[in-house]
Amino acid sequence: MSETNNLSNIQQKLLNERHDDTLINKAVAYAKDYVDEIKERAVFPSKVAIDKLSIFDEQLAIEPCEANGLIDFLNTHGAPATTGIMGSRYFGFVNGGATPAGLAAKVLGTYWDQNTALNILSPICAKLETVVEQWLQQLFNLSNKTVAGYVSGTSTANFCGLAAARFRQLNNVGWNLNEQGLFNAPNLRIITGKHAHSSIVKVISLLGFGKNNIEWVDVDKQGSIIPEAIPALDESSILILQAGNVNSGSFDPFDKICTKAKAANAWIHIDGAFGLWAAASKQLKHLTKGIALADSWAVDGHKTLNTPYDCGIVLCKDEEAMVTALHAEGAYIIQSEERDGMFYTPEMSRRSRIIELWATLKNLGQQGLDEMILGLHKNALSFATAISKIDGFTVLNEVVFNQVIVKCANDDLTKRVTQGIQQHGVCWVGGSTWFGEAVIRVSICSWLTTEADIVKTVSSFEHCLKKAQIKN
Ligand SMILES: *Cc1c(COP(=O)(O)O)cnc(C)c1O
Repeated sequence: MSETNNLSNIQQKLLNERHDDTLINKAVAYAKDYVDEIKERAVFPSKVAIDKLSIFDEQLAIEPCEANGLIDFLNTHGAPATTGIMGSRYFGFVNGGATPAGLAAKVLGTYWDQNTALNILSPICAKLETVVEQWLQQLFNLSNKTVAGYVSGTSTANFCGLAAARFRQLNNVGWNLNEQGLFNAPNLRIITGKHAHSSIVKVISLLGFGKNNIEWVDVDKQGSIIPEAIPALDESSILILQAGNVNSGSFDPFDKICTKAKAANAWIHIDGAFGLWAAASKQLKHLTKGIALADSWAVDGHKTLNTPYDCGIVLCKDEEAMVTALHAEGAYIIQSEERDGMFYTPEMSRRSRIIELWATLKNLGQQGLDEMILGLHKNALSFATAISKIDGFTVLNEVVFNQVIVKCANDDLTKRVTQGIQQHGVCWVGGSTWFGEAVIRVSICSWLTTEADIVKTVSSFEHCLKKAQIKN
């Protein structure tokens, strides 16, 4: 054992921990218990569990601590303060679940600890990124020239798509953004619907367009852009459309908009965080008709697709624009035969989110994906139908996908019922506003949700409404 003679104390300690089988086994066993109990676990942590988080308020230790005890500590005090996003009755925000294959692949990939920046850093991840790029072209019916960048979520994917748009539209008028910058650059026009997601507005600020310069387009009662309300477009225009309104789930009428917008040489970007996946369902894909005419798309793995978190994808038809926009010096490298992931994302070092994305898609297959996505829609429909039958609740949207917007008699009651439902603990839903009114937003995003969960959820809504009415 001469090799171990010259180890520092910390090397010796870490080596012992690596050889300690109980460490990983224990972490996996805790994880397994957590998932096994998810249906019975609270959808939101108790006040006690949250208060007890103060145990984490400590100075950084001077001495190293033992890994085994650390995992116990994390599980004991951390797990009770998690939210049940993995469960079947978490309908807050727009989230997702995680499939067993996706999670297991993530655990294995975590131990590989690959850096996916370059092919030479991780041939396996570069391979999976290439394969999944083709699968996505097929699922969304996009041209085989479409490139994919694997990023942390749709916010970043929107950033990348619009960065490519900015580069291309300025380039069209003879301005090299990377060399000349934004100072004195010709003006670009940013056109989007009044119900664009807040991440779009953020990206517009980040890219230096300025929120005040947005040309806002009127939307209909479902929150979809009214095609006739779009101003005349030109080669300096970036038109941002949406597949899946974050409240109503509605889709912009791509088919009616895109042909004309492309004829005017506008760049079209589609924020399809959760809605783009409708394209993978035979019954729902009519919602996405016309998306192939766009130039860039942003979509999440971690919502509708049910990959674990930290998984978004930017897709772009104009490889040169995307690679040049994200990497000023990299244009020549796209000619390389192998895929180097960093040229399609803003980052250099990146974790291997592709592993769980690949695993989730392979595990479901086209049929499973279709069934899962359609299942979310069916659950949303059955929730909407059941809740409409209860006196005192009104459904405000056409349930075209997985989102249901509900209100009570007035804003005050709606807000109190929302809080009541959250405290009741059967499910978790959030509040939102819809055309100025307070609403409850129900987003059905998990593969695990069943008809029985919908029934329980509807009863909780009914119970909490009655309770709030009595208090009136
Ligand atoms: C969730 C969402 C986003 C932001 O996606 P993240 O993955 O949270 O960054 C953008 N647009 C829409 C429509 C969304 O629903």
